Amino acid sequence: MTVMKQTPRISNWINGLKKQPETAGWLDKFNPHNGELLCQFADSSEVDTQRAVKAAADAFLSWSELTPIRRGQVLADIVAAIKRSANELADCIALETGKPPQDARGEVGGAILQGEYFAGEGTRLYGRSLTSSMPGKYSHTVRQPRGIAGLIVPANTPIANIAWKTFPALICGNTVVLKAAEDSPSIALLFAELTKEAGLPDGVFNVIQGRGQLAGAALVNDERVNVVSFTGSTSVGKWIAETAGKRLARISLELGGKNPFVVCDDADLDQAVHWASLSAFSNAGQRCAAGSRIIVFKDIYEVFRNKLVAKAQNLKLGVSADCDLGPVVSKRQQQSILAAIETAAAEGGRILCGGAAPTGTELARGYYIQPTIIEGLAANAKLSSKEVFGPVASLHVVENIGEALQLANASEYGLTAAIHTCSVDRAMWFAQRVKAGVANVNIGTFGSEPHMPFGGFGASGNGTREPGVEALDVYSELKSISFLVRENQL
Ligand code: NAD
Repeated sequence: MTVMKQTPRISNWINGLKKQPETAGWLDKFNPHNGELLCQFADSSEVDTQRAVKAAADAFLSWSELTPIRRGQVLADIVAAIKRSANELADCIALETGKPPQDARGEVGGAILQGEYFAGEGTRLYGRSLTSSMPGKYSHTVRQPRGIAGLIVPANTPIANIAWKTFPALICGNTVVLKAAEDSPSIALLFAELTKEAGLPDGVFNVIQGRGQLAGAALVNDERVNVVSFTGSTSVGKWIAETAGKRLARISLELGGKNPFVVCDDADLDQAVHWASLSAFSNAGQRCAAGSRIIVFKDIYEVFRNKLVAKAQNLKLGVSADCDLGPVVSKRQQQSILAAIETAAAEGGRILCGGAAPTGTELARGYYIQPTIIEGLAANAKLSSKEVFGPVASLHVVENIGEALQLANASEYGLTAAIHTCSVDRAMWFAQRVKAGVANVNIGTFGSEPHMPFGGFGASGNGTREPGVEALDVYSELKSISFLVRENQL
């Protein structure tokens, strides 16, 4: 493809300034809606990443020595800047990721809530007062920053992912190097510019664009990075755990999911269909928490299946405000989803709706996938057990709640789960036993709010939880301080 002169170039952000990549190499970013070249972004090398880490190291002392309350005030100013630029940010997200505008605006709203919560944490950042067995000894804990936080994010909800990690890292007094996702480079740069506008000192927040295996890996490998917080695929997460684990860096992993959505025979079926559709297809299924395994009691299976298929067939694809879901974020992702559907068909799955990219309309130019529902797959079929990260769900029939739980737990992942039932007993029994970090009753397989811990069992993470106060444990060290009252000095 010929690169037009005016193609925007999205650079790194180091020490409060836009920085071109050392090698002068650039990568193409395409518009998911129509496949056209949208911009180019820095193909950063190890040298660029190391420069960003140096900037973060140089800025650490002065930022960490501010009181948490002062840091919270700066965070509140960043939130105010995000609010002022909310439309520009939402437009950028919509364009880069192919989301309908209401979804992009909702995501900016989510980032604002994260910022407000962690700005407020500046007035708390609580420690504990401890008792002692030694008479006259008084002890308490304080939180101290880890140092440099290396934050690595995917593109599915780009500004929410950035806010989710950046605000708790900053309030704890760390400085940050953010590795932006390849498919959402501009939003990371816009966020960085807003931090400067809001008065965040240079070097406290830096952005590296580029490839994960080059620019991202350099961050993971850098001995100066004391905490690595990664959201992304389980395979990359495992490599990060191994690599950064060798030098005993703190590691927080928010990984994939294959989340069960159970519909009992006493469920409000219309509500269950509504939430199942949202769980499986919102954000074009590009959610770690997507409800991609729908487990239904036999007695109501046919009725539920027909309603859900009708609902999926009525969903509107596109990027305008009357659309339900947009394209997936890249051609590579579209191809991988189509291949997963093909494998499912080869493994005996019956495709009830969707199953392909739209053809014959203007959507054929973009990276769209029709909402797809597949039945008849074994629990261990590839599509029933591996994350697809697209608008694809499999339907499974069970006889009773025991079987439903067994199937729900028959996954290496354990991120979120939902159950639809009118029985408190069933709901409570299931929620207590399901292998998931988040269990929801009569709603979707949705994530958390800023004050709620989110994270998964099994291959969905390494046991850390972000956000909520639990995120402070990722980004800070606890220190116990003790005093002995010298009674002879009274
Ligand atoms: P990915 O793992 O390919 O990439 C995620 C980020 O990691 C990108 O910025 C990428 O450049 C970087 N990266 C890739 N290889 C790297 C390496 N070797 N070293 C350092 N960085 C590297 O994931 P993706 O396909 O972009 O995102 C989808 C995945 O993210 C899905 O598995 C989804 O479930 C998961 N996800 C999880 C959560 C959660 O909270 N648990 C939230 C959103 C997405």
